[in-house]
Amino acid sequence: MHPIYDDSTTLFAIYKSLFESNPDPCYAMDINGKFIIINDMAMELAGYTDEEFSKFYFSDIVTEEYKEHMIEAFTDVSMNGNIKSFDVAIKHKSGNIIELYGTSVPVIVENKIIGVVGIVKDMTEKNQMQRELENTKIELENVFNNIDVCVWSSDFEKQELFQISSACKKIFGYSQEDFLQNSNLLMGIIYPEDRERVDAMQQKLAEGQTLYLEYRIIDAQQNIKWISNFTTPIFNDTGDIVRLNGVVADIQQRRMAEEQLEFMAFNDELTKLPNRRRFEQLLNESILNAKETGSKLAVLYFDLDQFKWINDTLGHTIGDNVLRIIAKRLSSIIGNEGIVSRVGGDEFIILLQNIKELNHVKIFAQRINDEILQPIHLGVRSYELTASIGISMFPDDTGDAEKLIIFADQALNAAKKDGKNTYKMYHTDFSEDIVRKLDILQALRQAIKTNDALNLHYQPIIDTCSAGIVGFEALLRWNDPTLGYISPAEFIPIAEESGLILPLGEWVIRTACTKFNELYKNSEFKPYLSVNVSTRQFENEQCVERLKQILEEANFNPKLFKIELTESIMMKDAEKIVKKLNRLRKLGVDVFLDDFGTGYSSLSYLGILPIETLKIDQSFVQNINGAGQEAIVRTIISMAASLEKGIIAEGVEEESQLEYLKRFGCHHIQGYLFSKPVSFEEIPALLKKRFINDKI
Ligand code: C2E
Ligand code: MG
Ligand code: MG
Repeated sequence: MHPIYDDSTTLFAIYKSLFESNPDPCYAMDINGKFIIINDMAMELAGYTDEEFSKFYFSDIVTEEYKEHMIEAFTDVSMNGNIKSFDVAIKHKSGNIIELYGTSVPVIVENKIIGVVGIVKDMTEKNQMQRELENTKIELENVFNNIDVCVWSSDFEKQELFQISSACKKIFGYSQEDFLQNSNLLMGIIYPEDRERVDAMQQKLAEGQTLYLEYRIIDAQQNIKWISNFTTPIFNDTGDIVRLNGVVADIQQRRMAEEQLEFMAFNDELTKLPNRRRFEQLLNESILNAKETGSKLAVLYFDLDQFKWINDTLGHTIGDNVLRIIAKRLSSIIGNEGIVSRVGGDEFIILLQNIKELNHVKIFAQRINDEILQPIHLGVRSYELTASIGISMFPDDTGDAEKLIIFADQALNAAKKDGKNTYKMYHTDFSEDIVRKLDILQALRQAIKTNDALNLHYQPIIDTCSAGIVGFEALLRWNDPTLGYISPAEFIPIAEESGLILPLGEWVIRTACTKFNELYKNSEFKPYLSVNVSTRQFENEQCVERLKQILEEANFNPKLFKIELTESIMMKDAEKIVKKLNRLRKLGVDVFLDDFGTGYSSLSYLGILPIETLKIDQSFVQNINGAGQEAIVRTIISMAASLEKGIIAEGVEEESQLEYLKRFGCHHIQGYLFSKPVSFEEIPALLKKRFINDKI
């Protein structure tokens, strides 16, 4: 033993300072549990003075909850001489509870226990933290097991799934146990056609990248289903991947709606035949082909002679059935010698390929006429119908796809005039439409020059949440002194084709801005102004520059100015368009994508376009309660929300359409239900009107 231990004075000094200077509270009690000595830390901890302590037994300050337990512990130390560690809570002088962890040891003098000494640690904060941690863990577990998405974790090295949330049952039909017992299950249920694609992407994870995949699986009930799986690699301190965390969501509904949207963008819903847009694509492809091979094509425009009568007298259901039957007959006649498409109403366009001689086309047309004459049996009755057909030829009549269709349509009109149930080949003297077009062109040129007959009307866009107007769309009106009222749907394409759209478009912007400045002067409330800009106009090199100039000249706030472009703009040179759109954005002008849904825009492309708002085309709104349309409208709205784009529904005419739209989350509405386009003078009265009492 070190010599110092022989010196009882030094030894005493050591123990004393160990007791008194200890950073933790220390105590000494007599054999009855009464405090004898307390160090400063203990006094501070409990809030009592030395003198107050000296009157206490330990049981005086221990909380009721621990009293019995502490008496037992004390007895064990003071009677049996054991060392005892314990959890305890004491009452601070202020009344607060302090949680402690301590150890008591017996004081033995000449083999006799004369008291107990001990030391405690303040555990209040630590215990509190522990409890909070527990609660958080429970909450997290609750979230983990109750959300609709399925969350999983796997060991990267062992490729073993060790955690998966209970939503797996809902998504895959397999239980948590199924997955945990079979680590391969998650990958094993991938639909075979998608497996290669999913496998190929796994390399990305090994390279440390996150991975978002959409693919099909076969669930426990053997259903094929689309899911999304978002996987993130988790690294350890040394940068190695230790774990993969993933989130799986059921995207079946969304995918189905998207597929349907895509199908409907290119096909006619009733007959499932290609629609006009698809037909035009196919025609263009065929023309390219025919040019290469030097072959001829024929375009047959087909129209039933009595369809309006059937629809009006026998009803739409029978009308629809007739169209389906006609579609089938036409398809079986044409077989794989061409393409049949339905372009609206009772109009079908047929493309015949590889025409050797004109007679061949005539024979086909005659066969169609004969076949249509065959009675159609519907219920107990049968109907005999006839059709008229107009035919144009490539390259004989024109080399242009659009013109081929126009010419075939003109030939059809001639066939109808000729007494129906017949066909007619296009001749350049079928020029009735061309004459009208020329008349319109001339009159329009005059109207732009004199400005007399042109006018703008404005249609309000309403926010159903605030029940007020947020903006107005400017719409051209033209009342020609000789030709009468001509719809923009008719003259805008002519203006585009002839280039007149450029001066006309500028006139619209300038006039609308001047008028709206006048409006803003007299009104505190400033609704925005949106103006339609046609594709040809937007394609013009100077478009943005000119717009900037006009806005500056008019001193018009660009933030209140919106332009509406149609979806066809997206088919053009993407890079150029994005640049132009960005320049507009820089100007402060937002862009609305008009008639959305009528041209198929790739959803991913839409994401990168700097476009503010989508305007759902009226055809969707007006058939919102028709089969399939509801899902489409809902998808468009939720897609717009996820792309953080605004959404406006056009052509809302009925209360029921409004209800659907509101339910799906579309609150900006334009349509006759609230107001037709009105003259400038009528705007102030509209602005005063709160729609809430009226229609919303
Ligand atoms: P848009 O831009 O989609 O305009 C909406 C059209 O729907 C307008 O037809 C409007 O009057 C109509 N509309 C609004 N609410 C309803 C409704 O509840 N039911 C129905 N059935 N129709 C409704 P509008 O004025 O005949 O214009 C037709 C198209 O002509 C416009 O379609 C736009 O593409 C074009 N257009 C009109 N003005 C201009 C213009 O100044 N410049 C250019 N480039 N195009 C214009
Ligand atoms: Mg528009
Ligand atoms: Mg529109």
